[in-house]
Amino acid sequence: MKIQVDRNKCTGIGICEALCPDTFEVDDHGKLQLISGDTIPKDLLAEVDSAISGCPTGALSKQAC
Ligand code: SF4
Repeated sequence: MKIQVDRNKCTGIGICEALCPDTFEVDDHGKLQLISGDTIPKDLLAEVDSAISGCPTGALSKQAC
């Protein structure tokens, strides 16, 4: 699975980072970075799902590879 970020919706609030810090990081410029790229490691799927659900702007989604 891959993470997709809609940059037009992301406001850099960082809830995703709080829920899944191994995958998401908001940099000093307020821009979301995917720490290990856009492929979701299997052991982080549950955390990424919670980040997708927790994003208040609906900027995150996932897609089959
Ligand atoms: S929670 Fe959503 S809006 Fe906030 S930084 Fe993450 S993707 Fe962007």
